[in-house]
Amino acid sequence: MTPPALRYAVTLFNMETLKILVVDDEPGIRSGIARILKYHQVSYPFMEEDFNFQILEAATGEDSIEIVEKQKPDIILLDNKLPGIQGIDVLKYVREKQIDTVVAMITSYASLELAVQATGDGASDFIPKPFTPQELKISIDNITKHLYLRRITRKLRQEGKQLRFQFLSVLSHELKAPLNAIEGYLKMMQERQAGKDIAAYDQLIERSLTRIKGMRNLIMDLLDFTKIGWERKTKKLYQVNLNEIARMAINTIQPYAIQKNIQIFLHAQLPVSVMANTSDMEIIFNNLISNAVKYNYEDGRVDIELTSNDKFAIIRVEDTGIGIAPDEQQSIFHEFFRVKNDKTKEITGSGLGLSIVKKIIELYKGEISVSSTPDIGSTFTVKLPKN
Ligand code: ADP
Repeated sequence: MTPPALRYAVTLFNMETLKILVVDDEPGIRSGIARILKYHQVSYPFMEEDFNFQILEAATGEDSIEIVEKQKPDIILLDNKLPGIQGIDVLKYVREKQIDTVVAMITSYASLELAVQATGDGASDFIPKPFTPQELKISIDNITKHLYLRRITRKLRQEGKQLRFQFLSVLSHELKAPLNAIEGYLKMMQERQAGKDIAAYDQLIERSLTRIKGMRNLIMDLLDFTKIGWERKTKKLYQVNLNEIARMAINTIQPYAIQKNIQIFLHAQLPVSVMANTSDMEIIFNNLISNAVKYNYEDGRVDIELTSNDKFAIIRVEDTGIGIAPDEQQSIFHEFFRVKNDKTKEITGSGLGLSIVKKIIELYKGEISVSSTPDIGSTFTVKLPKN
């Protein structure tokens, strides 16, 4: 076991002191806040360090601006009613100068409207007055959490890891929702909420399975995405026969096509091959063909055409589906972008597939383009250099 002295030292080592500037013309409020926060510490399991606080005080807006410039506080607790310039003006100053500070307005319940306006002007939070010591501490905990996440986001972004951070947020968000749903369905079943008739549980099982399928697809997409970069370096390129890859992809997707009575045709006069990595090519075909089925209408069709000239192999995937509006045709290649309208609202997806496809194609110095007419269909054309 760690001796207490050492434990203390360890805690101290990971402690950061945040400067809080309290701007209020009532000395009682300022000293009260200082007293409450003197020994307060904030720690969350996900934070790498704990935080305590040093309190700075200003009685007027003018004084506060001077302190902001000199001491660069991490947090400002700002009363709006001040003798000279108002709190909201201080807030505007901080935002205009892009000073990196979390600002929380201290407002009475009566001026809630002002708090709402202040939030629009860049305040992160507001602390209703009067507050108990406990309420103040909770607000400070939240503000600290906010500040910590903001710093982490910035750090990750600076390190070029924004994408990974986005993955984390998508993962936590997109996987949490289905997990909660499945847990809910299982609990309903455990408590026999649908009665004794076993058939009554089919719908709960069906819904759980749909949610699991969605999670699996998301995980597979994320894996594909993270693989792109490093596999490139480690894998050798071979002559890959695209006719075979197309046929395999069609076989994989056929069960879904049958459910919607969609016919898939492959048009290829001659074998078409490129120097590539097989799994990269599979990702391209799987995504384009499964989208052509997924965003198609019942009884629709999908036509895949393979051709080549001296330099390029050309893949065309054409569908008779819902199409994509002109102003969204470029965005669909961005990570996590999904078209949101009545026609897509029942269709699940991660918004990653096409960005993965595009990234891979660019690695091969190829091109992808789309032409589409809403309600008529879409055609995706891929050009890949043969060597
Ligand atoms: P996902 O299908 O997982 O949402 P994608 O990156 O594969 O992600 O596609 C991004 C978006 O582009 C989809 O959400 C959909 O709105 C649109 N889209 C892709 N392919 C088609 C298609 N063949 N027809 C109509 N819309 C499509």
